[in-house]
Amino acid sequence: MKNLLFNSIMVKKIESLYGLAFPEFKALMKKKGETEYRAIQLFSWIYKKNVSDVGSMYTLPNALKEKLISSFVFSPLTQRSVCISKDGTIKWAFCLQDNNVIETVYIPGEGKNTLCLSTQSGCALYCKFCATARMGFRKNLDVSEIVGQVMFVIKEIKRDSINHIVFMGMGEPLLNVKALLKTIDILTHKEGLNFSRRRITVSTAGYVPGIRVLKGASQVNLAVSLNASCDEKRSFIMNINKKYPLNVLFESLDDYYTDKRRRITFEYVLLPGFNMGEEDVQGLARLLNSIPSKVNLIPFNIFPGSAFRSPTEVEVNAFADRVYNLGVSVQVRRPRGSDALAACGQLGASHFAYE
Ligand code: SAH
Repeated sequence: MKNLLFNSIMVKKIESLYGLAFPEFKALMKKKGETEYRAIQLFSWIYKKNVSDVGSMYTLPNALKEKLISSFVFSPLTQRSVCISKDGTIKWAFCLQDNNVIETVYIPGEGKNTLCLSTQSGCALYCKFCATARMGFRKNLDVSEIVGQVMFVIKEIKRDSINHIVFMGMGEPLLNVKALLKTIDILTHKEGLNFSRRRITVSTAGYVPGIRVLKGASQVNLAVSLNASCDEKRSFIMNINKKYPLNVLFESLDDYYTDKRRRITFEYVLLPGFNMGEEDVQGLARLLNSIPSKVNLIPFNIFPGSAFRSPTEVEVNAFADRVYNLGVSVQVRRPRGSDALAACGQLGASHFAYE
């Protein structure tokens, strides 16, 4: 029994400064007998100047620095590997303190440089077309593990090289909504990284209770992975549709739109032989024309053992034209980073090599 207790103390995780939102910095300073101004100083050392060594924060008094050093760590992540694709996309795999693995992807583009973050290690939704599903669900990330991804990447490539953040990596962000919202508060804080909420997108498979929470809490963009336009097909590839079918999902999206007046983005993974026929085009147009929206068509990215094939360029363009002709705002997402298994749905595909 004593040993057990000793072990549990030994493995207790030390808190990371990346897990605290600005009001918590203020409370922490108060507890340590410091003024509120110290919270601004510390926050901007961490997030504006990206310093991760308390010892070098020369504007802070030594006694405070010592207290911080003995109570906190910075990043809870260590780099496991990095893959750079021919098109400039970079994928990092990180090891967490509990040995779980997550991945983060940077996608440079003309004027739009996107950082794609994971919110869970693995995923509990088991969508049939997604590599992350193969990992199973490992855990919800805590705030420091999500913020830590951003802080790691901006040490490698500068803060100004990122102008868009998408929660579209491993996992379902709205199943970890508390950590997600706190992370967004940290990333958008004026005394810190100061990302604009309008340049942050949360992508969901359609977890309706989470959409309702997001509606009440944040001004970020919402993307919904639709992938099929009738319940039968959607439930076949996405289990979540059995619990939250299309009419329930769209009701929550209508509410979301009424409240926010922001166009919803839909994602539609193109799976030849499954969701690219005439009835799919008609169904997709009917759904999308029912709400102010646009759709990103994502050609299926293959991964080892996947059951679908990628569509040809001709198939992709023909589908896009047919949808466009029915009045839908449509964009084709050309695959990025696929040679590094960094494209949509490929995260975790190389994970088994870690075990
Ligand atoms: N759970 C969230 C975020 C992770 S998936 C969601 O479902 O939105 C991010 C995006 O990648 C989704 O739009 C999903 O439909 C797409 N995707 C998943 N697997 C894919 C694959 N193999 N090829 C292309 N896109 C894929």
